[in-house]
Amino acid sequence: MNDWNKKKPSGSRLLHDSIPFHSVRFSTSPTPIHPLARVHAMAPPPSDQPPAAGPAEISKVLIVIAMQTEAMPLVTKLKLVEAAAGESMFPKCAPWIRYHGNYKGLHIDLVWPGKDPALGVDSVGTVSAALVTYASIQTFKPDLIINAGTAGGFKAKGASIGDVFLASDVAFHDRRIPIPVFDMYGVGARKTLATPNILKELNLKVGKLSTGDSLDMSPQDEAAILRNDATIKDMEGAAVAYVADMFSTPAIFVKAVTDIVDGEKPTAEEFLQNLVAVTAALDQAVTKVVDFISGKCISDL
Ligand code: SAH
Repeated sequence: MNDWNKKKPSGSRLLHDSIPFHSVRFSTSPTPIHPLARVHAMAPPPSDQPPAAGPAEISKVLIVIAMQTEAMPLVTKLKLVEAAAGESMFPKCAPWIRYHGNYKGLHIDLVWPGKDPALGVDSVGTVSAALVTYASIQTFKPDLIINAGTAGGFKAKGASIGDVFLASDVAFHDRRIPIPVFDMYGVGARKTLATPNILKELNLKVGKLSTGDSLDMSPQDEAAILRNDATIKDMEGAAVAYVADMFSTPAIFVKAVTDIVDGEKPTAEEFLQNLVAVTAALDQAVTKVVDFISGKCISDL
């Protein structure tokens, strides 16, 4: 079976799901069709392809993680090994790190963008996340992407420390472009792959995820997060979704809450205090998701 047919069920599902969740509120164009929806709708599968031979079982999963502390417990749990120097498949100048292995019939690549070469801290944020996601899709051609990580949660929306969320929607909150249509491009709202069976089977919460390049939030960010109707806030999700969408690769977002954004404690302090414990909850949830995925097709999720 060729790659295109294998991808077809998942790709078309993602396209179907790609209507931004607040297109009505942000609509600045006289046309009732959202411009992004139109762009997505412009890419139907070629009609001269032979019909797909039914949905294919998921075989390759790419896990994208921002921080080493978040990645390592999962590497251990899934018994992944670090790709030897020269075998990472990434350009030598990039600090990106790849772990890989076979787990319950799945081939897993787990990537994190590594340490900043000059400063030695984790390369968090949208730029590194988008780059490593792009390179990994090109190299590993995954059937499914799992972006796993920590996030801030809003208690007003029902989030508590240690909760693990599956994001139903993603959007940016710090890309302000107050020009018609560019404003919606800046927000970059997208639906994630709908996974009703994962939700039914595993005890995860559902919420909208808002992404920006700061750990804190400015008053403008806060207003945008409210408009995004977000329950959780991170620094990578919407960037990973943008790249995944570009390559019609289904993606899900598993986020564990390390800090309460609308609480009393300063975010950075609370984040560091809870990081290790919450990472254990994240690692457990991602393992359960991977267990569930094993032997299934995208449409079973
Ligand atoms: N001070 C930390 C830096 C971590 S940056 C350190 O010393 O290592 C925060 C990381 O956790 C990002 O990858 C982001 O996605 C996630 N995150 C956790 N809580 C967040 C919040 N409240 N807002 C934005 N991102 C958050």
